[in-house]
Amino acid sequence: MSGPEYFEHGELVAVLTTQPLDRTLDYKAPEGGCFLGAFVEVPLGPRKVLGVVWGQGQGNFDPAKIRSVIRVLEAAPMREEMRAFLGRAADYTLTPMPAMLRLATRAPGLGDPPSMRKIYRLGSGAPERLTDARTRVLEVLRDYGGLAFTLKELAEMAGVTSSVIKGLVKQGAVREEDSPRDLPYPVLDPYLPGKELTEDQSAAADALCRSLRGGQYGTTLLKGVTGSGKTEVYLEAVAESLRLGKQALVLLPEIALTAEFLSRVEVRFGARPAEWHSGATMTERRRVWRMVGQGDAQLVVGARSALFLPFRDLGLIIVDEEHDTSYKQEDGVLYNARDMAVLRAAICGAQVVLASATPSLESWANAEAGKYERLDLSARFGAAVLPEMKTIDMRAEQLQPGSWISPTLRQAVRARMDSGEQSLLFINRRGYAPVTLCRACGQQIGCDHCDARMVEHRFLKRLMCHQCGETKPMPDACPSCGVEGKLAPVGPGIERLAEEAAATFPEARIAMLSSDLFGSARALKAKIEEIAEGDADLIIGTQLVAKGHNFPKLTLVGVIDADLGLQGSDLRAAERTFQLMRQVAGRAGRSERPGQALLQTFQPEHPVIRAILSGDEEGFWRAEAAGRQAAGVPPYGRMAGIILSGPEVGPVFDIGNALARNDGPLRQVGAQVFGPAPAPIARIRGRHRVRLLVKAPKGAPLQDAIARWIAPVTLKGDIRLAVDIDPQSF
Ligand code: ADP
Ligand code: ZN
Repeated sequence: MSGPEYFEHGELVAVLTTQPLDRTLDYKAPEGGCFLGAFVEVPLGPRKVLGVVWGQGQGNFDPAKIRSVIRVLEAAPMREEMRAFLGRAADYTLTPMPAMLRLATRAPGLGDPPSMRKIYRLGSGAPERLTDARTRVLEVLRDYGGLAFTLKELAEMAGVTSSVIKGLVKQGAVREEDSPRDLPYPVLDPYLPGKELTEDQSAAADALCRSLRGGQYGTTLLKGVTGSGKTEVYLEAVAESLRLGKQALVLLPEIALTAEFLSRVEVRFGARPAEWHSGATMTERRRVWRMVGQGDAQLVVGARSALFLPFRDLGLIIVDEEHDTSYKQEDGVLYNARDMAVLRAAICGAQVVLASATPSLESWANAEAGKYERLDLSARFGAAVLPEMKTIDMRAEQLQPGSWISPTLRQAVRARMDSGEQSLLFINRRGYAPVTLCRACGQQIGCDHCDARMVEHRFLKRLMCHQCGETKPMPDACPSCGVEGKLAPVGPGIERLAEEAAATFPEARIAMLSSDLFGSARALKAKIEEIAEGDADLIIGTQLVAKGHNFPKLTLVGVIDADLGLQGSDLRAAERTFQLMRQVAGRAGRSERPGQALLQTFQPEHPVIRAILSGDEEGFWRAEAAGRQAAGVPPYGRMAGIILSGPEVGPVFDIGNALARNDGPLRQVGAQVFGPAPAPIARIRGRHRVRLLVKAPKGAPLQDAIARWIAPVTLKGDIRLAVDIDPQSF
């Protein structure tokens, strides 16, 4: 980037704010001047807003009306690399810059001067008159055992006004202190010896370290079955990065993974890394944000948004379980963290490692095409061998209605219990039953706001919509026909399966793992640790268990419905089912004892089920790739979704139809538009959603064409338009 790096007092600067404007605004540099990239507070109408000095003023405003920057915030200026990354990410995802900037300024309290940072923690005094509001404040402080919060944070978390907290301070029940300076992070020691690697593993680790020393951008797909030591290998790359004096980022898909993972990192490097995820307190997030920027946090372990931290000198990004769909952010800015990691690395000359046992077809194809390096770990570490996989043909099993554990599976579980081993029953459905049906009128109970069924959750004693989270009590009478006592559950969810398991194995200690059964990430972590230590004979879990947890005593995995993911018309269904089944099966037999996976299916000859059993992954991918190539869909063609939403379905469709008719800019680049049609979820939170799908040949300038295509659209009232580049389902 050319242009000045520093602006004298009074010089014109262009400021990008987080407000929804389509351009930068001109201001005069404040007294003392400011650097390019500085975080600043600027006046906008009657308000003060956060912004970043993005360049030289454009000079296209009336000079007499140009106002001054109010103040420069106490944070290191945003580096050029970060500005370039945000710009490229905005171009790729067709996201307006202000929304992109918000992702990079999410550290709360960015602008608070240190003097204003009072913090609040539990005091020793007993409060007089314990009102509900006061109780909530004390509960929050107790729940976070010893952590301190700012006034605003605490008030928000407890849902009280700040005067309630001040009142408690007066009585000594809450203590007010000056915020300490950021505590330095303990230093990680990359020279501590790691585990002694096998030949396979050290070849892979060496290759990664060599690439790192090259000091340039590159991406490597690290493929290896669960338990083959991918983590051990990439921790060697992290060590090398730290030895080179560069920062490293490990992205993980699920908060639940971090408990086990962080202690592994601690063992490897002698200290804990910085953590970044939505569960962290704001105080902690603010600290991480600053320490990362100063280069004092050498290693960050975090969720996808950690990509937007202001790293000072990033050398390595690991994307673990790179195929995981939760890397795709589905609201606000629609981006895939895996792809953004590659983009960010390309800009700052870092290495990316995509680790997975079951890579996405995209990454597999990029490796095939030579865009990514590929390293394979073929065997499981030590005595651990891959589980034996078998189907249970459900057509031949005798099952009572309302029962889902086949006699064959039952026997297998019992045998493991007799020998003191753990079994896992996997069902990818939360709640008690997926459908609640009225036996009098045949209607199902649906959500009032979404195009989705309400799912009974017995544990919570409520019906819940899995789209919008709305809950309501289970009614006695059918909401459609009013007849009482006829509502009946249909099909199994995890809670119902647990009921059957408890009746079938009355002596078993049963543990349930489903994201909605735990109030906090901490409670979930505790449960996972308990299971790992052997405090359960039978685990019943949803998708949550498919990811990285290590249960050494687990030797049997029973998949209740292997066919579930194969229904529906989604082109990615086969890939997803293949990945999920192989991931789940990989949970069994991770230590000395061999594992077994049994898949209950009504269609054992289905090609995807056969591929899962045979373990011929390359064969599966080649077949999938050929299918996608023939259909011209990703990764062999490009796709984008346009989601229009609004309170009334008619006007939303009208805009969709008008777009479909005026597809000139798309046709110019050889792209086609399909739809409008109801989106995969046609109504969420009372908003109707309509989708247009755009399909373009591989090299077409898709973003550019879409930008020109949608530019004339005017959105009236409460109608919104979102562009989803590379949609997850098509
Ligand atoms: P993956 O990430 O591929 O699932 P991990 O790196 O978690 O595999 O390794 C699986 C288990 O085997 C872990 O407990 C790990 O510590 C252990 N392990 C892997 N490689 C080695 C090694 N070379 N020496 C000792 N233990 C190892
Ligand atoms: Zn809903």
